[in-house]
Amino acid sequence: MNYQTIREIQSDLLSNKISVGQLVNYYLEQIKEQSFLNCFLEVYNEEVISSAKILDDKLKAGQKIGKLFGLVIALKDNIVYKNHHVSASSKILKGYVSPYSATVVERLLAEDAIIIGRTNCDEFAMGSSNENAAFGPVLNPIDNTRVPGGSSGGSAAAVKANLCHAALGSDTGGSIRQPASFCDIIGFKPSYGSTSRYGLIAYASSFDQIGSFTKSVDDQILIYETIAGKDPLDATTANRKISVSNDNSDKKYTIAYFPEILESEGISEEVKNASKIFIEKQKALGHTIKPYHFKYMEYLIPIYYVLTTAEASSNLARFDGVRYGHRHKDSKDLEELYVKSRSEGFGPEVKRRIMLGTFVLSSGFYDAYYTQAQKVRRMLHNELSALLKETDFLFTPTCPSVPFKIGEKTNNPIEMYFADLFTVLANIVGMPAITLPLYKNEAGLPIGMQIMSNTWEEEKLFQYSHELMKSKNF
Ligand code: GLN
Repeated sequence: MNYQTIREIQSDLLSNKISVGQLVNYYLEQIKEQSFLNCFLEVYNEEVISSAKILDDKLKAGQKIGKLFGLVIALKDNIVYKNHHVSASSKILKGYVSPYSATVVERLLAEDAIIIGRTNCDEFAMGSSNENAAFGPVLNPIDNTRVPGGSSGGSAAAVKANLCHAALGSDTGGSIRQPASFCDIIGFKPSYGSTSRYGLIAYASSFDQIGSFTKSVDDQILIYETIAGKDPLDATTANRKISVSNDNSDKKYTIAYFPEILESEGISEEVKNASKIFIEKQKALGHTIKPYHFKYMEYLIPIYYVLTTAEASSNLARFDGVRYGHRHKDSKDLEELYVKSRSEGFGPEVKRRIMLGTFVLSSGFYDAYYTQAQKVRRMLHNELSALLKETDFLFTPTCPSVPFKIGEKTNNPIEMYFADLFTVLANIVGMPAITLPLYKNEAGLPIGMQIMSNTWEEEKLFQYSHELMKSKNF
């Protein structure tokens, strides 16, 4: 059962070639067989089987079925689902059960999707390799000695390994696109304000967006159309009509790229080569390729880490041992309760970021770091908006290297942060970006390519992505 699209699944369900029951049993078997990958923190076995029965009966009874009928989807463990555990892969939330569902979850269920379980990730979505998880790392299904990327590593690996058909993740600085690229699948982060963050455990609220992992562009569109759109429970969602026409006509685009990337030392030769091949291919297909000298490449990672850690230090203050999850026993006073509960509950990367964020927000340094970074953020937004008015897309590789070995970067957080070099820009400026699994190195390790468009140009972005996936393997 290796389906590429939801439509193929639906066509087999409607013609009675398979049943929803058989479909979920297949995935449940796969999850058991490949449990060594450590993709899932929890699988909703019985529940999934009874939902499948309800859906099979619905079809038999000739009732109207939802748009996502037959979709078996996993949730990253930072998206809440009513009456289910959620932990953000952290010990601090151990045992916590959510009393409500995220808006995206409600919307999936309303269209007859089945939620199969919650996937492993970096703690509070902080990481690029899924090694910062309290419940062990995830292995890359393509090469088990390598990381699947992060922070949504469990979601990406589960889709690649066919443990579910699609998965949701969250992307603050690349946590959908980077693991999708490392696992050779498609990952998409929509424009800021597209998908409701209600029920997403916040990391950095002005950067976070929910998106999905799929094997096809068609599925990306279908899921995006379902989960995106105005939500009264999230004031940052925009009131826009979300629909993507499937116009596959042969349009010619103008695509900008940063020529510095092709020379930069921090980027592996194989990624540079794949990028050159991509550029030549686009020219051959009749698109216009425009080099754009971008002066601020070296500021992207620092700006991202100043602003996201500032927001994280504030967002994570609520995990105090009083309201949620883990509480230190036998504290003599409230201060000790806070300090010990947080010290025991949070892992080292989360602590590092809370400290960094608290520092950049402290009264003596606020203007020097936080205010300054906000100004540069605005400047970058203006520059990218102007660039993407003149051109249709910005192209970069998704990651500076192919998936690295487990343990290779764990002792060097700065090196780890550079895995996000190309992905953080889209979140800094709030624009949509997609990674497409277009290339492989000689050892068969994936090299994803990232396309970014101006805000709210998802439709165009999907159309070009369709074309790129069609012309794959050149
Ligand atoms: N890898 C990045 C980080 O560690 C991005 C995380 C994310 O998008 N949630 O912050």
